[in-house]
Amino acid sequence: MEIIYYSNRLRSYITEKKAEGKSIGFVPTMGAIHEGHVSLIQEAMLECDLVVCSIFVNPKQFNNPSDLEKYPRNEQKDFEILEKIGCQVIYFPKVEDVYPKDFKDIIRKHYFFENVYEGGFRPGHFDGVAQVLHRFFSIVKPNSTYFGLKDYQQCILVEKLLEEYFPEIELVKCPTLRESDGLAMSSRNLRLSTKYRIQAAIFPRALEHIKMSFKKKSLSEAILEAKEMLTVKGLKYEYLDVVDAITLEKISDWLPKGQNVVLGAVLAGEVRLIDNMVF
Ligand code: AMP
Repeated sequence: MEIIYYSNRLRSYITEKKAEGKSIGFVPTMGAIHEGHVSLIQEAMLECDLVVCSIFVNPKQFNNPSDLEKYPRNEQKDFEILEKIGCQVIYFPKVEDVYPKDFKDIIRKHYFFENVYEGGFRPGHFDGVAQVLHRFFSIVKPNSTYFGLKDYQQCILVEKLLEEYFPEIELVKCPTLRESDGLAMSSRNLRLSTKYRIQAAIFPRALEHIKMSFKKKSLSEAILEAKEMLTVKGLKYEYLDVVDAITLEKISDWLPKGQNVVLGAVLAGEVRLIDNMVF
């Protein structure tokens, strides 16, 4: 396994591998690697000759400095996991390498969904995500890139970003991996105390409740009941809505099967969790 710290070195490494005819898969992460990340890397390994995983906690996508500061970092353990599963390349840059002094944000098209739900609660978050991914895609120039549906709005944003700037890169959207009690795997789960960890499992159950109510109850009744499930001590939902799975516009009645997605964000104590289900 190669650990590469500098974008110039990564560029020349990849040029060499492409000249040998190798296809490149790219999995961007912020580290604190868990099985959800591993599933993306394994999918990439099935489809590509060489897999590059980046570990970079991107300051531009955090609007809350304390959230950035508390973001879990455990590189040595990450390297061990990635080595064990056979990931060939880790790009582990410092902030100065990703954003050198002469770095300029790209002037990009903004989409309405960048300002609602995750974007509404974290102003500027999706622009930060778009900026770092534009930079990474320009460096790595992969054949395919792998993202988790766990971050549903992010997946849609990446789709738009690729359409606009890198139509040659294929986007592979991967399913959400969950703990045995249904909680979506997340690096942030590490920050949950035992008490909040138990309560956090109510969150996926509330989403499941909406999914199971599909066309059996009215959409508003289903949402109301799910919100009631989340009104337990220690939990607080920031948003919980059913939207059109493609446009992300809020809907007031069920759409045909497969076109609905329930998006939610919940605070379990101080830890912010997001999740969704498509149905
Ligand atoms: P992060 O390190 O949180 O930026 O996540 C890196 C990638 O892993 C993103 O594409 C996420 O959507 C994906 N991911 C995070 N959690 C999960 C999960 N539980 N299942 C599948 N993919 C995930």
